[in-house]
Amino acid sequence: MTAHIITIGTELLIGDTLNTNASWMGSLLTENGLKCEKAITVGDEPDQILSVLDQSLKQADLTVMTGGLGPTHDDITKKSLLAYFNVKMRRHEPTLQHVQEYFKKRSLPFSKSNYDQADVPENCEVMHNAMGTAPGMWFPEYNLAVLPGVPPEMKYLMNQEVVPRIKKLFPGTEDSYVRYFQLTGIGESTLNDLNLDGLSAYLSKNITLAFLPHASGMTLRINSREQDGEQVRKLEDYLRQKAGEYIYSEQKDEKLNLVVGRLLSEKKLTLSTAESCTGGFLANTVTDVPGSSAWFTGGILPYSNTMKINLLDVDKKMLEEYGAVSKQVALQMARSAARTLGSHLAVSTTGIAGPGGGSEAKPVGTVWVGYWSEQDHFAVKLNLFRDRLINKERTSVIALDLIRRRLLGISTLPYGLKPEYSRAPYKL
Ligand code: AMP
Ligand code: MG
Repeated sequence: MTAHIITIGTELLIGDTLNTNASWMGSLLTENGLKCEKAITVGDEPDQILSVLDQSLKQADLTVMTGGLGPTHDDITKKSLLAYFNVKMRRHEPTLQHVQEYFKKRSLPFSKSNYDQADVPENCEVMHNAMGTAPGMWFPEYNLAVLPGVPPEMKYLMNQEVVPRIKKLFPGTEDSYVRYFQLTGIGESTLNDLNLDGLSAYLSKNITLAFLPHASGMTLRINSREQDGEQVRKLEDYLRQKAGEYIYSEQKDEKLNLVVGRLLSEKKLTLSTAESCTGGFLANTVTDVPGSSAWFTGGILPYSNTMKINLLDVDKKMLEEYGAVSKQVALQMARSAARTLGSHLAVSTTGIAGPGGGSEAKPVGTVWVGYWSEQDHFAVKLNLFRDRLINKERTSVIALDLIRRRLLGISTLPYGLKPEYSRAPYKL
């Protein structure tokens, strides 16, 4: 069963508004077993709307359209539908009441164009929009859903009204299967060439695997249309066996920070951070996790050498001898954070974030991450990029992955990094 998405709005074409509706709907339709064949964007222009509508109604089993349903002169989707179906408007009284109440509750004046919100083409079923004033419309003869462009309203109507219709119209589509594996600590090509060199034996017309790299790692998405699921389970086992150490989650949207938080909670351990080059990015990511106060004791952000000395007891001589970007300083920072902030584990970051400030010996992108627990302390050297923001983000991800691996007892480090130790005398 195929679906087309049509998003309407000149603002989407000229780049004023990011077309988040298309991606969100594509994901939801896929999860519900439909094959999204096309997503088309057109401006608020009747000819364009009519032409893409005609194409989709002829080609797709289901068409979902958003945008242009507001009460202003540039919202012309409804008028285009009247012309296409050659039908008249009818007033939908329950919608009028809903819109009137909506305005009364907010003490807003009710004007002529608000009445228009309750007028719909006579050949549609109204889908009640509890999140706003523009109703959704379902055209049963055409398997066409027309929804407002405002993302929360569109999402509400998709979940409440469109998905139940899909389940009724296309029974059995739930058999199709989408699974996600979240990986970090390995590049796309390494994974493909070294770890998954036997992958093709597990794929077929009915089972596909997509590599989706992103800032904190990679998502592997499995799509399957086979009936019993046996082959897809074999593929999942193969991925776990060949790339297990890199898989931090098998949930679609689960982030690494959440996984680390859960592991710390389960093990009743606490974490603190000492950040220089990441400038608080790591602590920010950690505190994005609801309930992080149970396992995150705090972070210190000593940006200057003086503050590294004053706040984290870094030795002045150590700074002079090895420099701030060194394994000795990274280790001392992590050690002092654990002590000062009273945590079981601590991680530290110190590096040259760029774009300036590099040298021959320490080029831009040189970063040391320190790790400290009573049993286990080491530092790793990262050779990152020229982009400051990417370096902050990548360093934070690697620091979190070091923690995840240590908590799970995985002896290797991400990207094949080697732990380095130091004989420098730590201050206790
Ligand atoms: P409309 O239904 O065309 O009046 O759209 C109302 C608002 O929804 C617009 O101002 C946009 O901010 C937003 N919007 C419309 N279409 C999209 C889309 N495809 N993705 C994200 N936001 C959208
Ligand atoms: Mg619009």
